[in-house]
Amino acid sequence: MAVFKLENVEDLYEIGEVLGSGHFGQVREVRERASGVRWAAKFLKIRRGAGSRLGMERKSVEREVELLQALQHHNVMALKDVFECRAEIVLIVELMRGGELFDFIAEKENLTESEAIEFLKQILQGVSYMHSKHICHFDLKPENIMLSSNTLPNTDIKIIDFGMAHRFIQGEEYRSMGGTPQYIAPEVINYEPLSTAGDMWSMGVITFILLSGLSPFQGNTDEETLRNIVGMLYEFDDCHFSQTSAMAKDFIQKLLVKAPNERMSAEECLNHPWIKPLTRTQVAKRNRSSINMRNFKRFNAKRKWKMSYNMVSACNRLCRLQLHCKTSALQDEELRQCESDQEESETKTSSLLRRRLSSSS
Ligand code: ATP
Repeated sequence: MAVFKLENVEDLYEIGEVLGSGHFGQVREVRERASGVRWAAKFLKIRRGAGSRLGMERKSVEREVELLQALQHHNVMALKDVFECRAEIVLIVELMRGGELFDFIAEKENLTESEAIEFLKQILQGVSYMHSKHICHFDLKPENIMLSSNTLPNTDIKIIDFGMAHRFIQGEEYRSMGGTPQYIAPEVINYEPLSTAGDMWSMGVITFILLSGLSPFQGNTDEETLRNIVGMLYEFDDCHFSQTSAMAKDFIQKLLVKAPNERMSAEECLNHPWIKPLTRTQVAKRNRSSINMRNFKRFNAKRKWKMSYNMVSACNRLCRLQLHCKTSALQDEELRQCESDQEESETKTSSLLRRRLSSSS
């Protein structure tokens, strides 16, 4: 079992600015007092008791920590330390100075497929390593693909957030309905047994977006998106893919395959001619093709807007909750009720998935 230090994290680290927020807390930059080295600290609120529904279950954090400890690869975020203090667990992890990959790309004027492939190759190397350890991420999406620094060529892709990850044990059948609608595989929606192929579907979606600035299955609502995924409703619209090579489309088509065992594995992707060209003609085709930057910038701006909106809504919910608890001097039982209200809105995606499941079965 993972060992959590009981010292106060602030005795050893100076806490700095907020880098981002997740469902269960903030990620902040920290400076190790002894060495002066900068890290990121992920603060996770833990459920106070069996009756409480606010915060993360300690068991889930332990699982995330154990998976991170099992993964040591230059394309996977490294875990340094774990602290536990009252109702909070703090993970000290490698600091990603380069921010999110998609933000980095959106700053550029243009990007050839060859340049985009350099990033994709590193993501695939990280994924291939995870899969070689029988670990599947299950939440690969632009927000979870970061860069170690913001200067080329000294930057490495780092995969973050192993909150949904799972390590497969031989002979085990694992099902889950978690994930982000745009990126989840049909077998997740249909509540079928899962495998590492789930990540490969997400890689297909990420590549599609990277090249065209369009999300292949995006509907007007989450339910419509899930229906599009299960129905395999996507296309390479000529007007958005005019700058895309045929090899790139072939690569995506071999990932967006409904049957998980027919999808390319990460290792097979690394050997696909689009990623690893065998001839000079193939190299030239990649250099001549480019990503649809106008669409991509638009996609990224919308994505960031949605993230900020979600963050503001979460803060508002929390403020309302605190205010309510203060003014009405709630007893423990009532407080628990507040917590379940909060939880209800946080798990909207899973309830949508559940609804999708019941309508598809
Ligand atoms: P979610 O609710 O999506 O599961 P989470 O609570 O697991 O989120 P993360 O996704 O790990 O939290 O982090 C939230 C955000 O904080 C990220 O999107 C990113 O912007 C920022 N972040 C996370 N880890 C780092 C890091 N190591 N260095 C810099 N920023 C980071």
